[in-house]
Amino acid sequence: MSNGPYGQIACDCGAVSLLVCGAPLGLGLDAVDEPVTFWPLDAIQIGQGADELDVSPQAGGGDCWACRRCRERLLCAHEEAGVAVLTGQEGDASDHHAPAMTSSWQRSLEALGYRVRSVPGA
Ligand SMILES: [Zn+2]
Repeated sequence: MSNGPYGQIACDCGAVSLLVCGAPLGLGLDAVDEPVTFWPLDAIQIGQGADELDVSPQAGGGDCWACRRCRERLLCAHEEAGVAVLTGQEGDASDHHAPAMTSSWQRSLEALGYRVRSVPGA
């Protein structure tokens, strides 16, 4: 059903790991100019540590997924937009132009305070 795991994200202490499959939607910046990578929410799977995963609503919208033990934030999930926002940008992700980002997704993300770049066809 997928192209297989694209990568794995683990928190500092290793209690929680997430698997990301397929390709990122695009790259951008969050409200405080930190680089982020946008992924389809359904591309994210919990690899291990579901019991340690703390999902809490954020003031700006979306749910923050963090580790209960080390408190590292792994991603921000925006259910209504269907997007997971991961902090940081993997080197090879910047070379990967995913075709899936649409202008409506981009508008939803911008409404959430993100700035989108590296959008194919933009
Ligand atoms: Zn941890």
